[in-house]
Amino acid sequence: MLDGSELNFSLPVVTNATDSAPIGTLREKRRLPRWLKRPLPQPGMYYTDSVIQDLRLETVCESAKCPNRTECWSQQTATFMILGNVCTRPCGFCSVPKGKTETVQLDEPERVAEAAERLGLKYVVITSVTRDDLPDGGADHFYNCVLAVRERTGARVEVLTPDFMGNRDAISRVIAARPDVFNHNTETVPRLYHRVRRNAEYQRTLNLLAQVKAEAPDMPTKSGVMLGLGETIDELMKVCADLRAVGCDMLTLGQYLQPTGGHLPVERYLPPEEFDEVGDRVRALGFSMVASGPFVRSSYHAGEMASEHDQTAATIS
Ligand code: SF4
Repeated sequence: MLDGSELNFSLPVVTNATDSAPIGTLREKRRLPRWLKRPLPQPGMYYTDSVIQDLRLETVCESAKCPNRTECWSQQTATFMILGNVCTRPCGFCSVPKGKTETVQLDEPERVAEAAERLGLKYVVITSVTRDDLPDGGADHFYNCVLAVRERTGARVEVLTPDFMGNRDAISRVIAARPDVFNHNTETVPRLYHRVRRNAEYQRTLNLLAQVKAEAPDMPTKSGVMLGLGETIDELMKVCADLRAVGCDMLTLGQYLQPTGGHLPVERYLPPEEFDEVGDRVRALGFSMVASGPFVRSSYHAGEMASEHDQTAATIS
C-alpha cells in the first residue's frame, strides 16, 4: 500500500490565498505535511485482506491507493469495485489501470454478497470502474450486485457509480435496485475537468444526480469533490451550489493525493482547519451532511454519514 509518509511531493507555499485566486503558485520540495500520517494496521486488516483475496474481488481501496485502507480494513470495511480492475477513461487523478477491459463476471454479485456477509457489513458501498465499452455501462451488473447483497445480508447499500455516459436508461436501472444512497462524484470544478477528468462532462454529472432525484425523490444522493487540484474557493462554492440545485443531499470534500509520480501533481495541501472552514461554508448551502477533511473520501465512514443524513432528514420532516 502507498504510504505517503515516506514520499516526497511538490508542495506549494500559499500566502494571502483569496477566494478567487488559483491555489498554489509557489512550490518547494517537502515531505508530506504532518497531518497526512496514517495509523498502523490492526489485526482486522489481515482478515479483510484474506476475504477479498479468497473471493477474488477488487476494491477501490487498493486500486485507487486509498490512504484510509489501513484504518478501514482494520475495521473490516472495504468498498467493492465491480466490473473488473480496468477502466475505459484516462482520468489524470486515478490510479485504476486503463486499457483492455475484462469480461463481466456473472458470479460477481454473489461473491460481493458473500464478502459482505463474511465481513459482517451492515453498510456496503459498491463502486465500479467506468465501462464505456458496455452498452449499459454495467448498470445491470450494479443492479444485480445491490440485490444480491441486500438479499444475503440485509445490509444497506450505497452505490458510487460512473456517469454511464449520461445514458438515462442505464441510470434508471441502477435506481430500480433501490440503493439506500446514490453517490456519483463530481471530482473537481468544471474548469479543471479536461485535465482531471477527461471524457467526463460537468453537466452530465449534474444531470445524473438530478435524474435520481426526479425518479426517486426519497433516495438520498451524494457527491464528492477533491481539493488541492488548483480549484479556487469561488469555483468550489459554485459547484456546491449547483449540486444543491439538483437536490444533492450529501457531500464529501477531501484532499487529492497524487497516487504515483505519473499522475496529476498536488497543487496544494489544505490543512485540517481549512477543511473545517470550507465544510462550514458549504454546510450553510443546505446539505443534510457534509464531511470535509484531508482523508475524507466518497466512501469513508459512509454508513455513519448515511445515518446522520437520516437523522437530519427525520428532524426536518
Ligand atoms: S475510504 Fe473507502 S476506498 Fe478508502 S479504504 Fe476506506 S472504504 Fe476503501
